[in-house]
Order: sequence, then structure tokens, then C-alpha cells
Amino acid sequence: MAYVDVPEPVVQPYTAKIKIAYSGICGSDYHIVAGYETPGAPRTYPLTLGHEYCGTIAEVGEGVTNVKVGDRVTALVTVNYCGKCLSCLKGEFYKCAHVQNMGYECDGSMTDYIVVPSAGIFKLPDSVSFEEAAQIEPACVAGNAVLVKADLKPNDTVVVMGAGPIGLLILQFAKLQGAKVIVIDLSTETKKLALAKQFGADYILENDKCDAITEVRKLTLGRGVDYLFECTAVEGCINQASLMVRARGKFIELGITPPEGTSFKFFLLLVMQGIDVLCSFGHLPSMWEKVIELLAEKKINTKDLVTHKFKYTQFEEAFALKGPERVKVLLHP
Ligand SMILES: [Zn+2]
Ligand SMILES: [Zn+2]
Repeated sequence: MAYVDVPEPVVQPYTAKIKIAYSGICGSDYHIVAGYETPGAPRTYPLTLGHEYCGTIAEVGEGVTNVKVGDRVTALVTVNYCGKCLSCLKGEFYKCAHVQNMGYECDGSMTDYIVVPSAGIFKLPDSVSFEEAAQIEPACVAGNAVLVKADLKPNDTVVVMGAGPIGLLILQFAKLQGAKVIVIDLSTETKKLALAKQFGADYILENDKCDAITEVRKLTLGRGVDYLFECTAVEGCINQASLMVRARGKFIELGITPPEGTSFKFFLLLVMQGIDVLCSFGHLPSMWEKVIELLAEKKINTKDLVTHKFKYTQFEEAFALKGPERVKVLLHP
């Protein structure tokens, strides 16, 4: 990794230039730095990372009517879609044959200025700060898992395996739906577990200090939970978690598993119990509108997830930061 000068991007028709306020470090950014490749989407380097961002409109291209210079905004991760195919016309830009994801297949947001299609830009209400807005993207990831994939109902039982930023956002969405939520992480993750308590977890299990499978069964009349959200992508946790789901329940994976593969040790058990194994990745534009509303109404909290902020010039320190006090790290110019 290096901090270098890059050319300032040029506005085209139907695009706008955003002056970045914050760009968050995602779990997947740590993976890219560690050398993970994305199947089917080879990266070309040099590559500017970053896809969790917000900022201010600095310039608009011809034909742009939805935003103006000075507006505080965030925008989709998907860019370079054609805007004309059936998927694009339905707003499902991520399905377009031309689509690229910022910070993965094309340059991302850890820079001063970006240019993105105006169709993917969302204005921020005055009540939503830039610190909060930098995590609208991860909140949409959690919202997609809970509201689109899982279809949670009141009193459904849930395990959130892994209390990182995504797990803590899933907890908040699950509580909004009226679910009973058990959060599981290591006892050493003191900050994450404190936030889980703050965000209303009904039970917190310290995975290194108890038999979590037995505890989950005790808390669910011996059956296991209706929905399990697996956010660690660690094979041992995936297999442990698969034994916490009730028959005909749903196991939902959100983690970025290692490129060398992951195995379900108890797959036959999942089959025989009719458990749905689902994967949740990304989000639809409609989820962005919903998350912005929820933030404006203070129904979800992204602000308290931010534990550290660094300037771009401090990128080495920012990416190297580990330990129990780190939850979400934001970078800024
Ligand atoms: Zn991300
Ligand atoms: Zn298209």
C-alpha cells in the first residue's frame, strides 16, 4: 500500500464529483490488503480502495438534476453500469453486465474526489452526520440480510455470530423487527460486546467461556434459533453456528470466506433438518433510502460503531490497528 497522487477524476454527463468527507475501512478491505482475490472479478493494480463513503457534491455533469453543488451525499458502490439494460432500468445496477464495484474492480473512495453516476447518489438529511453516513453502506449490507433474505418477524429467535460492525448492525435491524437476539463473540472483544449490550442484545455469549451451542439451545426451548446470521467467515464458527439453527430454520452467511474454501462439516444434518442455507451480499438501492430514513429517525446507530479516525497519510497505522478497542475505522483527507 502507498499514499500517492492520482489524477483528479473528470465529471461526465449524468455523473457528479463528490469531495470525500470519510471513507470507512471495511472487513473486505483488510482482506484485499491481505491478498484475497474475488472469484470471477480479478482486480487490476494500482487500485484505490474504499466503498463506504460520504461527502459533498463538488461539481455536477450535464443533465444532472437530482443533486447540486454543496449537497451532502452518499452513493452506491456500483458504478459504470450502462443505465439502459433491463436490470439497470429496474434499478438493479448490480446485475448489469458492465457494472463494477468501487474499491474492488475499479478505483474506490479513499481519495479526495470521486466521480459517480448521479442516479446512485442519495442526499443526506441535515440530522445525519458524515460520521454516521460513512456507514450507510455496511448498514445496507445488514438490512439486506435481515429484511430481504431473512424476513424476520416479531419474537423470532436470532443468533448473530460475530459482533463486528456488520454483526452489530444486524443486531439493530433484528431488534427493530422485534426479534429475540443472542450475540456471540469472544470475551476479549470487550468494546464489541459492550456495544451489543447498548444496542439491545437479549443475551450475550462469550464463545471462549461457555459451550455456546448448549447455551443457545437452553435459550430456545431446546430447539435452536429461527435465524442465524454468520458474520465471522471463520470455518470453526460456521460449523459451530450451523448446530445452533432449529429444524427448518435459516442459516445466513455474510462473511467473506477465505479464497481457499470453507467446508460445512455438518452439511448432511442441515439437509436432513431442512435448514435453508442462504448467502447475503450487497444491497438494493431501495435499502439505501430505508437506511437513510432509519438514521434520520435515530432508529439505528452507526455513530457509536466508529472507534477510530485517521488521515489518509496515517493509512499504515489505520490498517495495522487491531485489538479489542477497534470496531470501525474511518479515513479522511
Ligand atoms: Zn464493505
Ligand atoms: Zn445495465
